[in-house]
Amino acid sequence: MHIPILFRYILSVYNIFIVFLLLSAQPLSGQTTSFTTRQSELPCLDKKLTVFVHVISDSLGQTGVQEDSIRYAWHVADSIFSPVCISFGPCLIDTIPLYEFDTLVGLPDLERLQDLKNRFSQPEVINLYVISTSGLPGGHPRYGYTLPWQHLLDGRADSSVLVVDKHVFRDYPLALCHFLGHYFGLLDTDANGDELVNGSNCQWAGDRICDTPADFLDQAFKRPCTYQSEAVDANGEFYTPDVGNLMSQYWDCHCGFSHEQYRKMVEYYRSSLDKKW
Ligand SMILES: [Zn+2]
Repeated sequence: MHIPILFRYILSVYNIFIVFLLLSAQPLSGQTTSFTTRQSELPCLDKKLTVFVHVISDSLGQTGVQEDSIRYAWHVADSIFSPVCISFGPCLIDTIPLYEFDTLVGLPDLERLQDLKNRFSQPEVINLYVISTSGLPGGHPRYGYTLPWQHLLDGRADSSVLVVDKHVFRDYPLALCHFLGHYFGLLDTDANGDELVNGSNCQWAGDRICDTPADFLDQAFKRPCTYQSEAVDANGEFYTPDVGNLMSQYWDCHCGFSHEQYRKMVEYYRSSLDKKW
């Protein structure tokens, strides 16, 4: 074979090979899901929110938590919320010497929490109650409880509240941001338990956020920051949750919010009728 002809032959075979590679690299529809964070610009709220922390002392009259630890957790929150220009401060701290409120567990204690709020909550600030043991319905036992400000009991009073257990400030300071996430309208990443691993129903199932992978909280198979579970979704696919997401319940692995979670928190704040601060 003449050398230029041979060269052209090799080139054409090479091109066919490249086209084959490109075609075979195309994903089939529905087989792959990207959870990569969208890079559109985040909105900036430019808000500094005042915080009033009420520490309930125990039966021995001890607060059981250092003020420095509380201030540090809010400092961490400043840094976590900085991408959407929200900061927290000044942070006012008082001590309430009523040990009967230092443990709030079970449905009847929601009434007692309301009593506490009626007596001590300040208007137009974020009120945080720091207690030894929480176990309120809808919260996370031994971590905390949130009622977002959009929930109105009678259409008049601001019923919003944060409750966080004392040990959280020592052991998991980032967990304060989990409860702030709820305060700003976010759900747990494992909420509802109906999100599919392939992400096809992410708009309305689970936490209704599409850049957080489907999550199934499996206490039995949870290992520190490495998710190991044999649980599968309705399609039989294994879960691969983001254990570093702040709205997961992997408290010792918390790292940050997703892009869409930030956007949703800002939307929630802007659309809230009851925001007073
Ligand atoms: Zn939660």
